[in-house]
Amino acid sequence: MVYERVLITAEQLAATVDRLAAEINDRYAGRPLTALILLEGARCFADDLLLKLAMPVERAFLKLSSYAGTAAGTVIINPDTRLQQSLKGKNVLVIDDIYDTGRTLSHLLEWLDICSPRSVKTCVLLEKDIPHDESVTIDFLGMQVPDVFVIGYGMDYDGRYRELPFIAELSP
Ligand code: 5GP
Ligand code: MG
Repeated sequence: MVYERVLITAEQLAATVDRLAAEINDRYAGRPLTALILLEGARCFADDLLLKLAMPVERAFLKLSSYAGTAAGTVIINPDTRLQQSLKGKNVLVIDDIYDTGRTLSHLLEWLDICSPRSVKTCVLLEKDIPHDESVTIDFLGMQVPDVFVIGYGMDYDGRYRELPFIAELSP
């Protein structure tokens, strides 16, 4: 078995996505937003979430690399001036899979600052229940998970297991 135990079932994920979408619809009250989706991990979550949003949504994607296996590494953002230009003056909603150490999100939020968006909010599916190295405001949070390595619903271990329809703890 590749996974130890299921932490969040497909039904719980669907309910969480519904709740987050309702919160976001409420907060933006019809104002258009630009969803900045952090690849690859958040793609599946974002696909489900964006189907439930009521306002006009533009999608932008950013590939960040901070993980090799399960060891936290350096956060790398490939400079893309076209993307930076396209975020100028927009209401940007950052969509990510996990708030773990917080290094990825805090680095990204600094990078976003120089893009001069109109507003920035964060929507993250999971928060690990640990003291974060970098503290980040999560405006829309799905669920907390214990400090284990999780896979499924778009999240991988070395490129595998993204297709699991639930979130599970990776076997040691
Ligand atoms: P942070 O910079 O907050 O430590 O980590 C953020 C990124 O690392 C997440 O967006 C996610 O892509 C990856 N990550 C952190 N913890 C896990 C985990 O338990 N499982 C998987 N698959 N990815 C993780
Ligand atoms: Mg990620």
